[in-house]
Amino acid sequence: MNDLAEIIAFYLANGLTGRILAAHVDDGTGHCAGCAWQQAAQPIYPCALRYSAEVAAAQEKQQSARVELSPRAESS
Ligand SMILES: [Zn+2]
Repeated sequence: MNDLAEIIAFYLANGLTGRILAAHVDDGTGHCAGCAWQQAAQPIYPCALRYSAEVAAAQEKQQSARVELSPRAESS
């Protein structure tokens, strides 16, 4: 498992994906608003957190799609 996959698994396990997507947005200057508090040099948007949360959200969507499909598969 690479670093990104571990981060994504952490987001999904803790329900952090939506919070990160909401906080890490373009602040209007092309930098990340969600990262402003932690670094003197503000990261360019989208930051690594934002990117990883977007990947996590995509995986979450795929997982919920599978959950929706499974009852139909069991009943048939
Ligand atoms: Zn950020």
